[in-house]
Amino acid sequence: MPHHPSHRLDPRNPLVLDTRELGRRPGSMRPVQLSAPAPEGLGIVDLIGVPVGAELVLDLRLESVMDGVLVSGVVTAPVSGECGRCLDDVSDTLAVRIQELFVYPEASTDHDADDEVAQLQGDHLDLTSTLRDAVVLALPLTPLCSEDCQGLCATCGERLDDLPDDHSHQETDARWGALAGLLQQTDPASREET
Ligand SMILES: [Zn+2]
Ligand SMILES: [Zn+2]
Repeated sequence: MPHHPSHRLDPRNPLVLDTRELGRRPGSMRPVQLSAPAPEGLGIVDLIGVPVGAELVLDLRLESVMDGVLVSGVVTAPVSGECGRCLDDVSDTLAVRIQELFVYPEASTDHDADDEVAQLQGDHLDLTSTLRDAVVLALPLTPLCSEDCQGLCATCGERLDDLPDDHSHQETDARWGALAGLLQQTDPASREET
């Protein structure tokens, strides 16, 4: 085995592509269309992301270049998360453009290894980190159920969009409420009743 075991890629992983058919002649190209279940980590924890196992659709082009294989194309994936204002479920479809050069092992330098330049392992390349970086960058920092989501009522915590326009709470401070109760007790009319 020419490669270190920790670098060996699993060819059964659908995000690991075999570049043998492409050949190493610069300029040769091959379209690749595939779908794969989403791996973990395609998102921002507890906020928004591609659910693990959801179907990713990859429409890619592999291109042989001087130092390696250039992968470019579009990945489409469902995303789900929580509205940053009202906490309602948000779901959407994300289409992200990706582009990454996977360098031939013999063309990569020590410097590349330090910079974590994507590398081919033998004839295989692994798209997982490329996807992760592209998807996480493309996700909204504040996902919203709709652009004009009103958020939650500060008093009752209900979604304002679900409440009538004139929704309001009596602006009675708790202390005033207690005082109102006292006044009622000392009111001669109410005392008569007890
Ligand atoms: Zn919302
Ligand atoms: Zn309210």
